[in-house]
Amino acid sequence: MALCYYNEKFVPLEECALPMTDLAIQRGVGAFESIRIYEGTPFAMKQHLERLEGSVEGSGIEAGEIIKKLPCVIRDGLSRLENGKFDGLVKPYITGGDINNKGSFPAPRFFVIFDEVHKPTEEERKSGITLEPNRVARPFPLIKSTNYLFGLIPLSKAQKTNFETLYITPDGEITEAMSSSFFLCKGGRIITAPVGSVLRGVTREIIITLARENGFQVDERCPLESELAEADEAFITGTVKEVLPVVRVGSQTIGGGRPGPVAQHLQRLFLLNQARWMD
Ligand SMILES: *Cc1c(COP(=O)(O)O)cnc(C)c1O
Repeated sequence: MALCYYNEKFVPLEECALPMTDLAIQRGVGAFESIRIYEGTPFAMKQHLERLEGSVEGSGIEAGEIIKKLPCVIRDGLSRLENGKFDGLVKPYITGGDINNKGSFPAPRFFVIFDEVHKPTEEERKSGITLEPNRVARPFPLIKSTNYLFGLIPLSKAQKTNFETLYITPDGEITEAMSSSFFLCKGGRIITAPVGSVLRGVTREIIITLARENGFQVDERCPLESELAEADEAFITGTVKEVLPVVRVGSQTIGGGRPGPVAQHLQRLFLLNQARWMD
């Protein structure tokens, strides 16, 4: 059963409701995080909460006090679940509240959802996933906004077998997927878009660190759509996905349509090194 912290109380998620006047509902003003919990211990919580602070600041939401409370609320919630051994996701949301002061939101609301995690299937891990190109730039890339419509619209129009959409700028630069960071492997190098063009992915940063520690060359520049054809492999990263191989983007098959060794190696390194980012 999912739990929610809202209005200073922990209650079953289905008993929570946001007022219809909230600007998250009326104008899409809100930011959030998705933090993985492994057996009661949060993974990279500090990095997620720092990013949330940046997202609310970037959105004009005045949430300094909320950000300060979140670590306590999260630890309190975890202690109430499965004898402190909860395995799942913690999702703190900060919304615009009811007051819009010309783009400043001085009275935000927040809630924290403690829920199960929907991991990729064995088949997706083993055979890789496909992405649908989305030929727009994601606005305000440093903000993890609750508004995913720009990523979802092209997904609804494409084949239902696609896992996510992939943002590609009109100049053919690949930035990131709808809710994941994107990596291309080519000529012995790993290429991924720089922060600023994309969100500071927490998994992205960990994978770059692990890759460099293990002798891979990582270039932080946008991969080009024209490089997909000659790429050896591609993969996406994210809190729930960890490292997931990509075998096709639109009609372009990558690496012969099979997952490659680099993604597999990095997924293994991620699991082996998880303890370093537990807090
Ligand atoms: C959440 C998200 C990611 C992945 O970030 P993680 O911190 O690794 O989970 C990447 N890009 C976008 C647009 C996202 O919303």
